[in-house]
Amino acid sequence: MLADWGRDWTRSFNVAPAAVVFPESTEEVVALVRLAREHGFALVPSGGRTGLSGGAVAPAGEVVVSLDRMNRILDFDSGGQLVHCQAGVVTEVLQQFAEQQGLYYPVDFASSGSSQIGGNIATNAGGIKVIRYGNTRDWVAGLKVVTGAGDVLELGRGLVKDNTGYDLRQLFIGSEGTLGLITEVTMRLCRQPGELDVLVLGLSDFPVVMNVLSAFQKSLDVTAFEFFSDKALDKVVDRTGLPRPCAEPCPFYALVEVENAGEAGALSVFEHCVEQGWVVDGVISQSVEQARKLWRLREDISETLSHWTPYKNDLAVRVSAVPEFLAEVDALVARTYPDLEVIWFGHIGDGNLHLNILKPDDQDQETFFKRCHAASKEIFEIIRRFGGSVSAEHGVGLLKKDYLEYSRSPAEVAYMRAIRQAFDPDNILNPGKLF
Ligand code: ZN
Repeated sequence: MLADWGRDWTRSFNVAPAAVVFPESTEEVVALVRLAREHGFALVPSGGRTGLSGGAVAPAGEVVVSLDRMNRILDFDSGGQLVHCQAGVVTEVLQQFAEQQGLYYPVDFASSGSSQIGGNIATNAGGIKVIRYGNTRDWVAGLKVVTGAGDVLELGRGLVKDNTGYDLRQLFIGSEGTLGLITEVTMRLCRQPGELDVLVLGLSDFPVVMNVLSAFQKSLDVTAFEFFSDKALDKVVDRTGLPRPCAEPCPFYALVEVENAGEAGALSVFEHCVEQGWVVDGVISQSVEQARKLWRLREDISETLSHWTPYKNDLAVRVSAVPEFLAEVDALVARTYPDLEVIWFGHIGDGNLHLNILKPDDQDQETFFKRCHAASKEIFEIIRRFGGSVSAEHGVGLLKKDYLEYSRSPAEVAYMRAIRQAFDPDNILNPGKLF
């Protein structure tokens, strides 16, 4: 159905695309942009449509430009560990291609089976391994883009060093389809990780999570450091039947993944954390299968919560400020929104918290969203005070554009508008998104 092409994973926006087109080459994208300028219609670039901020939503008669048919891997440069492909390649396909070369593409998240690499770049996707490997931005060695003016730019070109002025490639990473359409990409790969051990630790209290993080980072190679609340765990265990990691419930849990630590290495840090009273109980994976199950306790949260129509917030503060920030938000919710159930989880090692508010069964959708919007404004005031971000990794799209001012100054937004104007003079690319 046409409407499906105008929708992403947000589901809360009305969609009305005029058409969807499937270009097969950069030249066809150029022709499309020329046509759009000439006839004054708008284009919405579309990857796997797994976004969580409405960046690929087409609400007002736009033409959706699907990259589905530009899904070929074009070239592999083994000396430079570079893969050159079209932007519609599915993230998981890129991961598998890397593996076939004995290498690794490390950016990973729940939607990697359907998201596309071009969309990952346009949102600068993060995910579960950022603490070790960074965001998508860190793996982009080159981009071919068609700007809103119809020019084809080749940016970065796989070079490691190139100090010849502004790095325009960086502008397109995270631009959410507002500067140009990404048609080809060159991604860096790296060596495959060694043996990975996964621990799930029951914490005595939230603030100790920082001590646990430091203890692990001081002596081991941490490849993931995630957390979730007992409420999140309860719901996942209920729905999946997975075993609980600790005998007694703890208020919060940390999932830690370490590389080449050996069981003894992981165990010694675990024991140190228990001796200090930070960790009450926990489990270390004894097999790849068990590691996978422990990961599911964290990774199945989003899917599990989707049954409650959650209102999602994706927040970031400096890593060390996380405990203080979380306590302030919890206090605010308890004081002003006691009817709302708040579920915390996220990438604590990146200072990135996913705050999900669940709709009470007896509240209608409209009242619920109104209350959530009101709560969000107060939460964003706290974010502003902490110098944090109202969108850590999901982007701005339609969902956060009214809140951009909480994270960006008026001067910054003015420069961003000027940049957009330079690349998209007729405002045909994803109008109404970002700002
Ligand atoms: Zn996330």
